[in-house]
Amino acid sequence: MDAPLTVAVVGSGPSGFYAAGALLDQTGLDVRVDMYERLATPWGLVRAGVAPDHPKIKSVSSVYAATAAHESFRFFGNVHVGGPGIGDVTREELTARYDAVIYTVGAQTDRALGIPGEELPGSVAAVDFVGWYNGHPDFTRLDFDLSCRRAVVIGAGNVALDVARILCSPHERLARTDIADHALEALRKSSIEEVVVVGRRGPAQVAFTTPELKELPEYTGSGVDVLPDEVTAVAADEESLPRAVKRNLLIMRGYAAGDTPLGPRHISLRFLRSPVEILGTDRVEQIVLGRNRLRVGDDGWVSAEDTGERETWDTGLVLRAVGYRGLPIEGLPFDERKAVIPHDGGRVRDAEREYVAGWIKRGPTGIIGTNKKCAVETVTRLLADLDNGALRRHEGDRYAEIEPWLAERQPRLVTEQGWQLIDAAEQSAGEPHGRPRVKFTDREQLLDVALRRA
Ligand code: NAP
Repeated sequence: MDAPLTVAVVGSGPSGFYAAGALLDQTGLDVRVDMYERLATPWGLVRAGVAPDHPKIKSVSSVYAATAAHESFRFFGNVHVGGPGIGDVTREELTARYDAVIYTVGAQTDRALGIPGEELPGSVAAVDFVGWYNGHPDFTRLDFDLSCRRAVVIGAGNVALDVARILCSPHERLARTDIADHALEALRKSSIEEVVVVGRRGPAQVAFTTPELKELPEYTGSGVDVLPDEVTAVAADEESLPRAVKRNLLIMRGYAAGDTPLGPRHISLRFLRSPVEILGTDRVEQIVLGRNRLRVGDDGWVSAEDTGERETWDTGLVLRAVGYRGLPIEGLPFDERKAVIPHDGGRVRDAEREYVAGWIKRGPTGIIGTNKKCAVETVTRLLADLDNGALRRHEGDRYAEIEPWLAERQPRLVTEQGWQLIDAAEQSAGEPHGRPRVKFTDREQLLDVALRRA
């Protein structure tokens, strides 16, 4: 009888779990899936990216828990693939042990604005702020100064709305979520009264999805400040705009009409402005914005064009939410412009047994469910390669040797059982307070619980 097909999935976010699920769902295929994760906890952006006040979106984790419960699945947390340090393993060590390796590592950093003053204290990546309020151990120790009255968020996407909404949400509302305790406390003391979300193009070009735009008054307990002039006459032929754009415009026009009064802490939306410079002596004090006009290209693409006009606003906190960026994996090809790993249907270009899925494959776009289709495409490719001989299995059965090898390499290996201990402890800490969980946010504390040292 053939040895089982062995696949390592590197990264335990949505695309990793969808890839694992797609493999384990194959009928008539004897397959073993090992999932490697740098942190002690799985679920990637579902745990550390999705906003704490969006529990419905987070509930997709039950699908991942079902995959993890499969007898042919193993979780190996606290293992960094690619690093040279203690507890790390290399790409080559994985390809020597597994028939195939699927990288589902996401887009792990942010995109910079590239403007003067961006490095000043008080100018931060929204990605870091998101990691901080979600209790990601890499961001727990960050300190955000929320003592100013106005924060400015650059970018008109859903991450911009997430950070603006969290900054403007009433304490009682956040206190019922799994937001990190340190963030809950800092936000309780926040002096911020206005969070201005700035789009470089017009309201018809925003990347907000309609439900996220529509929920703002309910979540913040305040209207949204939109200037009527900025949302009228936005296109020559409005009827021809996509339905989602028309729905967004309708909502923003309702905000501009003042349907809900503004509260003491509110979100403002401003359009056709690009950040030009951040000013301040020791920290952020002001931001200079350039006014744009829209320009329609021959291909129909609407871009922002600088008019030369400038505005200077007072602010103590500038959050850039202009997109995530993928990082290269040593030894694999990398497209610097798109910040993705080049591939053919999911198989890494010029590689023999390595595959990609999720944001490192197609860039940081789409909602969580988009990763399912993306991962299924990769798994389909992998199985086709197996059929046509492009992917050749290793000789012999090495599966049983893997866990002892890893345990030796990483004595603080977190298995599925270790994660279950963390999960149970967090949930029981949340229960008396009506919260879904109270997150452990410190790496050592997480390891203590997972390895039963707490
Ligand atoms: P995004 O949707 O790509 O939005 C990025 C925004 O930044 C766009 O408005 C873009 O404007 C703007 N931008 C880019 N470069 C800029 C620059 N140099 N100066 C000024 N503005 C600039 O990215 P995201 O918000 O990071 O979200 C990533 C993905 O996660 C998206 O698919 C998003 O929908 C998803 N997500 C979903 C949820 C949810 O479902 N609740 C929550 C969070 C994130 P242009 O359009 O002009 O380029």
